[in-house]
Amino acid sequence: MTAHSGRHFLQIPGPTNVPDRVLQAIAQPTIDHRGPDFAELALELLQRVKPAFGTSGPVVIYPSSGTGAWEAALVNTLSPGDRVLSFETGHFATLWRDMAERLGLVIDFVPGDWRRGVDPRVVAERLAADKAHSIAAVMVVHNETSTGVTSRVPEIRAAIDEADHPALLLVDTISSLASIDYRHEEWGVDVTVSCSQKGLMLPPGLGFNAVSEKALAATASARLPKSYWDWAPILEANERGYYPYTPPTNRFYGLREALLLLEEEGLPNVFARHNRHAEATRAAVRGWGLEVLCADEREYSSSLTAVLMGEEHDADKVRRIILERFDMSLGAGLGKLAGRVFRIGHLGDFNDLTLAGTLSGVQMGLELAGVPVDPAGLQAALEVLRAG
Ligand SMILES: *Cc1c(COP(=O)(O)O)cnc(C)c1O
Repeated sequence: MTAHSGRHFLQIPGPTNVPDRVLQAIAQPTIDHRGPDFAELALELLQRVKPAFGTSGPVVIYPSSGTGAWEAALVNTLSPGDRVLSFETGHFATLWRDMAERLGLVIDFVPGDWRRGVDPRVVAERLAADKAHSIAAVMVVHNETSTGVTSRVPEIRAAIDEADHPALLLVDTISSLASIDYRHEEWGVDVTVSCSQKGLMLPPGLGFNAVSEKALAATASARLPKSYWDWAPILEANERGYYPYTPPTNRFYGLREALLLLEEEGLPNVFARHNRHAEATRAAVRGWGLEVLCADEREYSSSLTAVLMGEEHDADKVRRIILERFDMSLGAGLGKLAGRVFRIGHLGDFNDLTLAGTLSGVQMGLELAGVPVDPAGLQAALEVLRAG
C-alpha cells in the first residue's frame, strides 16, 4: 500500500464527500432519544427536511440504506399480486424491480438499452391500454446512477394524467435529491424514495420516504406484510418528536447541518452548480474523444457522468491506475456495463477546483492506461468553469 498525503478524492456517485461542518456536527455526545432535547431536534428536522423534497407533507426518516427506503415505499402502498409498471433504465431500476418481484408484486417490465430514461410516451401507452386499472403503481428511478441518465418526471406525471389512470407514482431520487431539480408535490409524486449518502452530503445510513396524501390513503388497503417499515407508528410517534425505536441521533445532527448548508447556498444555486459541473465534465469527455453514455441530451445527469470506453479498453484498468497513482475513486460500470464504462461523480460537496482536480486525474489515468485521448479535453472543461 502506498501512503498518500492530502485528502482522498471520493468521486464515485455516492457515497460522496462529507463536508467538515457535517462531520463536526455528528461528533457530539449521543443524547437520550426519549428526552426533550431529542424531541426538539426531531420536530425541527422533520420540518426542515421538507424543502429538499419539494413537499409540505410528511417525510419518514429511517435508519437504513436507500434499499430499505425502496422496500418501505412498496410495502406501505401495495398488496400481493398488484401489478406495477417498471422500466429497465439501468442497474438500479433493475434491482428495484427484482425487489418488487420478491415481495410478491407482478411486474410489467419495459426493456431498455441503459442509455435512456423512462419514455413518457410508453407510460401513456401502457396505462391507456390498462382499461381495468389493474396497474397499481409506476416505479421510476429519477436519476439512474449506473448510466448517468435523468428521467423526465414531470412528463411522466403528465402521461399518467393524460391516460386518466389512478396508479401511484413512486420515484427513486437517491442520487438526484439536493443535486438535481426535484419537486415531490408540484410533480404529483406519491412516494419519493431517497437516502443520505449522495446529494445530501451525509455518511450512509438514513433512508427517506416523502409521502403524498394519496399514498397515505393507499395504506388503508395495502396488504404486503410490513413491520419495521410501517409508516403509521413512525408518523404517530413523530407528531411528538419521537420514534418507535432508537433513532440514529448523531446522523440527525449531521442531517441538520447538511440542510443548513443547502439553505445557505439556496437550492436553485445548488442545482445550477451541479448543471455547470456536469456540462464541464461532458466537455472534457467529448474533448478527449470519448463518449457520454447518456444518449439523449434532455436526460443528461447533473450528478454524475458515465463515460463509455471503446471495446479495446478496460474501464476497470483505468480506475485501478487512477486509484493507485492519484488516490481517487471513480465509479465502476455496474451490471451489463461492467468494464465498459467508468462513472465520474460530481455531486454533493463539490466546487470548480474539485472538478478540475478530478478531471486532471481522469485525463492522466486514461493516458497512463494507454487510452488515446486528446489532452484538449481538460482544457475544454476548464473553459466552461472559467466562463462561470
Ligand atoms: C445508491 C443508489 C441506490 C441504493 O442505495 P443504497 O443506500 O446502496 O441501498 C438505489 N438507487 C439509486 C438510484 C442509487 O443511486
